[in-house]
Amino acid sequence: MERESLLKPGSTIGIIGGGQLGRMLAIAARQMDYKTIVLDPDPGCPTGQVADGQITEAYSSRDASRELARSTDVVTYEFENVDADSVSAAAELKPVLPSASVLRTTQHRLHEKNALLKAGVSVAPFRNVESLSDLQKAAVDLGYPMVLKTSTQGYDGKGQMIITRAEDIEHSYEVLSSPKVELIVEQFVPFQMEISTICARTADGTTATFPPAENIHLNHILDVSIVPPRVSEAVIEKARLLAAYIADELDVVGLISVEMFVTKENELLVNELAPRPHNSGHYTMDGCDTSQFEQLVRVLAGLPISEPHLHSPTVMVNLLGEVWVDTDGDPDWGCALELPGVSLHLYGKAEPRVGRKMGHINVVAETVEDALHIATQARDRAWRRSR
Ligand code: AMP
Repeated sequence: MERESLLKPGSTIGIIGGGQLGRMLAIAARQMDYKTIVLDPDPGCPTGQVADGQITEAYSSRDASRELARSTDVVTYEFENVDADSVSAAAELKPVLPSASVLRTTQHRLHEKNALLKAGVSVAPFRNVESLSDLQKAAVDLGYPMVLKTSTQGYDGKGQMIITRAEDIEHSYEVLSSPKVELIVEQFVPFQMEISTICARTADGTTATFPPAENIHLNHILDVSIVPPRVSEAVIEKARLLAAYIADELDVVGLISVEMFVTKENELLVNELAPRPHNSGHYTMDGCDTSQFEQLVRVLAGLPISEPHLHSPTVMVNLLGEVWVDTDGDPDWGCALELPGVSLHLYGKAEPRVGRKMGHINVVAETVEDALHIATQARDRAWRRSR
């Protein structure tokens, strides 16, 4: 029997947020002839450059998200610091995937950790912090070092501080707390490795999980993703199963990205969830038979999802604004692309700033060591740091 897809090609996907994730989603949508309209206040945003239309308004505008819902067939979002109430306003008119309730859980660290604990998933020991004395008590329970984090609006290491001794508690609390900001504090995990994986889940509960990536951060920003990770098959399999379990428990329809610490004992502690495509999943664009963006389009359209397969070891390196700043705005792409297996992805951001994600390079190779070597070399060549 022929399977009816919910949304036929030619239908329109609404995207809240106009960054690089929305851009790559819009490109994947276009490949299957779905249209996209983006809601973003910046008229030159990366997604707007490739979408079929843009509503140039604040994410927090309920009128704008209702307008987005009225002009599209299904709505998604590409970052989780979007106003959940305006997402709910869109959901009154059109399906929003993942649901506003998944967004509410994952955009608040305390809610997220409580949801994970309720599902029986291990996380780093943590305490809710509503006052300086809460933080002082937490130090007695958790010991040092601890990581103090804002419960909302944190990304790329913003809104977090490591506390290594009692003398720093008051200062750290003062820096991060303000009347409107809620905080949590976690035990510092002396992890062996950070990995992440992305699970897609459809409305009928089918899941498919991408091969996990090993992630290396620099200054709290993702620097390199290495696939497959340099851990045992058993850990990799456990991570995939855990991501699918979390997708089921939270009733996600869409993608859920799961960041985890691998402890020295090879246990997995979940650090963070994101109900959207993820920087650590960019490798799928060249390393897998289906990318994370195509997979999301399939879920949004009600099409069958693919069981993603890694066809070659793949490494992704991020291209941050410093590559442009250090080369006076003229990175040497030609020199980078002379190397084998290199794919260049640029996000169309006009203003390079240090730490700003401007693009990435994917390298596929015979071995993970080769891919890592070539990827680092390619970035250095573009950066004019070596030939
Ligand atoms: P997050 O914003 O929670 O994803 O944290 C950003 C990065 O900070 C993580 O990828 C880790 O490298 C580091 N980090 C966060 N929490 C902890 C922790 N409890 N223990 C050790 N490192 C952490």
